[in-house]
Amino acid sequence: MRALPATILAVCGLIASACGGAGTDGATAGQAAPATSAGQTPAATTGQTPAATTGEADVPVSETPEEPLDGKVVVIDPGHNGGNFRDPAAINRQVDVLTQKKACDTTGTSTDDGYSEAAFTWDVSTRLRKILKNRGATVELTRSGNDGVGPCITERAAIGNEAGADAAISVHADGSAPGNRGFHVIMPKKIDGPVDKVVKASSRLGVAVRDAFRDGTGLPYSNYIGSRALDYRNDLGGLNLSTVPKVFIECGNMRNAAEAAKFRDPKFRQKIALALANGLQHYLES
Ligand SMILES: [Zn+2]
Repeated sequence: MRALPATILAVCGLIASACGGAGTDGATAGQAAPATSAGQTPAATTGQTPAATTGEADVPVSETPEEPLDGKVVVIDPGHNGGNFRDPAAINRQVDVLTQKKACDTTGTSTDDGYSEAAFTWDVSTRLRKILKNRGATVELTRSGNDGVGPCITERAAIGNEAGADAAISVHADGSAPGNRGFHVIMPKKIDGPVDKVVKASSRLGVAVRDAFRDGTGLPYSNYIGSRALDYRNDLGGLNLSTVPKVFIECGNMRNAAEAAKFRDPKFRQKIALALANGLQHYLES
């Protein structure tokens, strides 16, 4: 998302062994089964329920089989936007994120050979939307393409709130020093504000996403931020202004050659989307 000050990097470097330790707790969690037709009862397959034969026609009969995320609302926020670089005035406009003022949005990072974070987050998010919809969820994105500008981080949070999302996720990839690698999840902290009531739920969502992401992608925990890929922040508008359970995922470091190569591969992006869907589903079913 953005480079950290050198002082923080130095501190993280000192505790890198603790940050990036290869634990085992993620190995079994988060393997939510994809939607199946296992819920179909014998009555459904024969098509003749007692209600149908006695003529109670005013009772609606569902034609589609039940999906695991029926009734759930998920908002996906694809970080940045492909057109942000065209309108610095709009993007640099200062907005209030309760703990400070900061820019409406940023351009995001890119791989060394120019694959932008905005294109990456858009692709992963649209893949994720498709998977979640197939599992029955109602899904909303915070932007409609990758050629526009914005919206501001305040608006991105508001979209999740207005949708009454059961879960919201902001998809990013980091732009850190080339030797840094791995993914991490960012969760909100209490700030004496409206986000406080969803801090606990967001933590549960974050752990579910962390576990599923490692299982599904094989990427390591970040070796430069957080502890076991979990980080908590109070300076992000997308989290501070959320009144629904929400996390950010930094899928890895786009400035690391090995991770950049993976992010450029559509098959790997599908893997990421599937892992995120499994994490969200695990949380939504818990
Ligand atoms: Zn970002």
